Amino acid sequence: MSDEAYKIAVCDRCFGTFEIKLEERKYEGSVVQQFFRCPGCGKEYTVIVTDKKLRDKIEKRRRLASMIRAYGKSMNEAALERKLRELDAMKRNIQKRAENLKERYVKEPDDGVWERRNDGQRTGD
Ligand SMILES: [Zn+2]
Repeated sequence: MSDEAYKIAVCDRCFGTFEIKLEERKYEGSVVQQFFRCPGCGKEYTVIVTDKKLRDKIEKRRRLASMIRAYGKSMNEAALERKLRELDAMKRNIQKRAENLKERYVKEPDDGVWERRNDGQRTGD
């Protein structure tokens, strides 16, 4: 993937192209919505909504993943398998919490259903 392909987005409402610039919107408590906006029509694309607990979970998963990258080869198969399962469970847990937060905080525009289908959740890795 070239840098350009990574940076330039196409809006699915107006089909304008633009460079993604992440913005953050804070809600009560520790809730933060990360999003970017199409400069052409103003449509917002939510990347993720997190709270403190979710950010802690994400950080924990990141640490486990880098531990596995660093030491996975020197672990025995059963131990590695256990760690990988743990990693996967963390991911599902994170996904569920992120989905719930998004449901709760993202104000859906008229074409909200459309937006949600195009939010790229499954490309999270
Ligand atoms: Zn647009």
